[in-house]
Amino acid sequence: MSLLHPFSIDLEDWYQGIESPFSAWAGKEERLHQGMDKLIALLDASQTKCTFFVLGWIGEKHPQLIRRLADAGHEIASHGYSHEKVYDLSPQKFREESMLTKTILEDCSGQQVVGHRAPFFSITEKSLWALEILKECGYTYDCSISPVKTWRYGIAGCPEEIFRIKEIDLLEFPVSTFSLLHKKLGIGGAYFRIFPYWFFKKAFQRNTAANRPTMFYAHPWEYDPAHPRVEMEFKAKLTHYHNLKGMYARTEKLLHEFSFGTVASVLAQAEAAKKISTYSLHELSSTQA
Ligand SMILES: [Zn+2]
Repeated sequence: MSLLHPFSIDLEDWYQGIESPFSAWAGKEERLHQGMDKLIALLDASQTKCTFFVLGWIGEKHPQLIRRLADAGHEIASHGYSHEKVYDLSPQKFREESMLTKTILEDCSGQQVVGHRAPFFSITEKSLWALEILKECGYTYDCSISPVKTWRYGIAGCPEEIFRIKEIDLLEFPVSTFSLLHKKLGIGGAYFRIFPYWFFKKAFQRNTAANRPTMFYAHPWEYDPAHPRVEMEFKAKLTHYHNLKGMYARTEKLLHEFSFGTVASVLAQAEAAKKISTYSLHELSSTQA
């Protein structure tokens, strides 16, 4: 059997992906199902199980959807509650959100929720304190650190493979990357829409041959090209709206060409193979590109 790569979806509506604050969500056009119907069709057609990092707020609004995903064998994990960047929250607020979301999602899924991904990959050098709080709240793994440094997120020089954080015994599965002209770029989301498909195919081919599980991430609104257009600054607009029309076919190809599973199943595979390195928090905060 070929190597299993993790397929992950940050389960949120379109207006949560554009940095609109929690206070502005009321009254926005709800379109979650437009993207989710397409995604579920893609997953069903390829018989893929994936990890949904679900906003606690979405879990409250759509408990039947979360239950349906869990019953279909997908993994339910946390994407926080308010979609605020972790480095903009106080540790106390982050703890409240992490606990609340875990409770909401466990109630509606019937699963134990042990995985977490921060909105906008916002665990950076400014917010490494969050990892310890996750462990205290009962999470066993996190997928929030990006080795690609952008204007919004990233820790340059962060390890690129699954690692264990020594002091707190928490697993981290960082954003997977590929290189283009000596620049690192992420695998998934806007990158997957902006750059040619064959860049990603090559990265998955290379990593499969090297036995390196490679994280793919996307959002339901990326499968709903007709969602509302709102004005925002150039970089945010490019990353949010570019080539939404191509996303479905690209994902279909990727799911056809490689094998994907939940993050939990890939972590279990790596743990069984004893392939996990250990790093201390100090090493993470002092790494440089
Ligand atoms: Zn998000």
